[in-house]
Amino acid sequence: MIPQSFEYAAPADLKDALNQIAAGAKPLAGGMSLIPMMKLRLAAPETLVDLGRIPSLNYIHEEGGKLHIGAMTTHFQIESSPLVRSRCPLLAEAAGNIGDVQVRNMGTIGGSTAHADPSADYPASLMALEAQITLVSAKGSRVIGVEDFFVDTFTTALEDGEIIQDIVVPVEDSSVGASYQKMVQPASGFAIVGVAARLRISGGKASLARIGVTGFGPKAFRAKKAESLLEGTAASPSDIEKAAAAVADGVESSSDLHASAGYRGHMVKVYAARALTIAFSRVS
Ligand code: FAD
Repeated sequence: MIPQSFEYAAPADLKDALNQIAAGAKPLAGGMSLIPMMKLRLAAPETLVDLGRIPSLNYIHEEGGKLHIGAMTTHFQIESSPLVRSRCPLLAEAAGNIGDVQVRNMGTIGGSTAHADPSADYPASLMALEAQITLVSAKGSRVIGVEDFFVDTFTTALEDGEIIQDIVVPVEDSSVGASYQKMVQPASGFAIVGVAARLRISGGKASLARIGVTGFGPKAFRAKKAESLLEGTAASPSDIEKAAAAVADGVESSSDLHASAGYRGHMVKVYAARALTIAFSRVS
C-alpha cells in the first residue's frame, strides 16, 4: 500500500529537528516500523522529520563507568561495536538477535525503544541493565529509568515534542555474566518470549540478579520476584530453576496466533532458566 502524502524534512541540526517536532512533526529514525505503519495507514503523519542526518544522535562512548549510546545508533553498530561487545555484551547480544541484516542496518535503538513493541528485543536487556533514557525536547531534557519509560503496549512516557536522545547502560566487569535468550517467531524474528539475565557473583554468591522479560505480556518487565529468589544463593542449577519458575509471577500472559497464554507461560520459564544458566557460565 501507499502511505498518505506527507512533508519530509531532514535537518542536520538537533535544535532545528526539535523545533519541528514541537510544532507537530513526527520523528523518523530507521523507518523499519514507522514506514510499514504508514503504508498500512495505521499512522498518517503530515510531516516527518528524519533524524538520520543529525550526527549528534549517533555515537557510542564510555563515560563515568557507563556506556552512552545515541538514539540513532543502529542495531548493527551496537551488535558490532568492540566497545559494546567488551563493556556491555548483553546489549550487543540483544542487538544481534533483532530481525535480519537489513533491519539491523537501518533500525535504531532510539526508534525501537520509542516504538515500545511488546515483543521487541532491546526492552528485556534494557530492563536487566536498569538503563537510563535521556529525553530531549525544544524545552530541555530529562532522564528517566527504563521501568518508568515503558508504560503499556506501544505506549511510553515520551511527552509531546520529546524524543529519545540517548540510552545509558552500565559498563560491566568480569564479576558479571549476562545473556539474552529468545524464542523466535520465525516469520518476523520478534520474540514469542525473550529473557535477559544479568548476574553478579561475589564470594560464591549471586550479589545481584536482574532479569528482564519481553514478548510475554503487554510490555516488557523486570522479574523482581525471581531476582530476589536468586540473590544471596550460589546460583546453583536448583536455585536457577526455582527463580525461573517465578519469572512471570503476577504478570498476565499474552495470547495470539503464535503462542497461547499457557504455552508462553511454560516457555518463559524455560527461557529464563536458559538465560540464567548461560549468564552464570559467563561470569569469569
Ligand atoms: P522508526 O520506524 O523510524 O520509528 C518507530 C517509532 O519511533 C515512530 O513512532 C517514530 O516516530 C519513533 N521514533 C523514532 N526515533 C525516535 C526517537 N529518537 N525518539 C522518539 N521517537 C522516535 N525488532 C525487534 O526488536 N526484534 C526483531 O526481531 C525485529 N524484527 C523485525 C523484522 C522486520 C521485517 C522489520 C521490518 C522490523 C523488525 N523489528 C524487530 C523492528 C526493528 O527493530 C525497528 O528497528 C524498530 O522497531 C524501530 O526502529 P526504527 O529506527 O526503524 O524506528
